[in-house]
Amino acid sequence: MTTVQTVTGPIDSSELGRTLMHEHLVIGYPGWESATLDQPDRSEMLRICIGRIEELQDLGYRSMVDPCPSDLGRDPELALDVAEATGFNIICATGLYKSDQGGHAHWEARARYEDIVGPITELFVSEITNGIGSTGIRPGIIKVGTGTGTITEHESHVFAAAAAASLETGVPITTHTDEGTLGDVQQRILTEAGVAPHRMVIGHSCGTTDGDYHRAIAERGSYLGFDRFGIPFLDDNDRVTSLAALIAAGAGDRVVVSHDSVWCWRGNPWPVGLRKLVAEKFVPTLFDNEIIPKLRAAGVADSDINRLTHANPRSFFESRPLPSLD
Ligand SMILES: [Zn+2]
Repeated sequence: MTTVQTVTGPIDSSELGRTLMHEHLVIGYPGWESATLDQPDRSEMLRICIGRIEELQDLGYRSMVDPCPSDLGRDPELALDVAEATGFNIICATGLYKSDQGGHAHWEARARYEDIVGPITELFVSEITNGIGSTGIRPGIIKVGTGTGTITEHESHVFAAAAAASLETGVPITTHTDEGTLGDVQQRILTEAGVAPHRMVIGHSCGTTDGDYHRAIAERGSYLGFDRFGIPFLDDNDRVTSLAALIAAGAGDRVVVSHDSVWCWRGNPWPVGLRKLVAEKFVPTLFDNEIIPKLRAAGVADSDINRLTHANPRSFFESRPLPSLD
């Protein structure tokens, strides 16, 4: 029996059911506080999020991970209200985002005076153990991320802290990658710090069609997030082709799926016109409504499709080691 921490409290892993591993109730890039015009009020956000969850419940989903790190507009109390209103399991995160879009200014100021790996570790462990701030809401996953090119000094501090906090608490890790790059480096850094490979999801792996990159991460025993279906950085048909190839290579036990959809924004990072343009596809129901038929057309068996949303998330939270692929 494995306990999974949700915003309303611990559940047994058998209660997870169908699970989406990467969706967001609300996101606000650091500095959103300066966008003081046209902000959604709380009742509107609650209405939107409950509506989305009800659509997922109609498709048989029972759980989701909202891996919003603490510096990206995270709102655990909103998640609690939505979970209580719907009976849906929402797993929230502790963690910090990649340098170029995260709240690194605070930690970089502090890094001028001391090694910040310890204080960041303490933050993650305290949120996991005691709850976020004074809310009592406890995260069930740790979120970290990298941008493109190289991993920054700040990001390496955050990764070191995430590894230490995961080892101390037993809570697993999920990551952000840009353009399907550096996931292999993330995996190496975390495993070299002692985190077992099956305790991490290398997120947004569907940001590239590079099959060698996918297989290398899979062969080293981590989960791959095909978790941006509907986001037009890449064509969904290419994501389907890559996913079908991974499944054909025997790695169908280590892929989890999602959309990285954002249901409410703080601030206005996207112009209204752009939001309207992507609205139809930027929804957490796309996998069931459009991607599953594409996977079937690509020859993927229903049993392989089903485990992407059911057995795999459960195995991840249950910390089951992944078998060798050869
Ligand atoms: Zn995300």
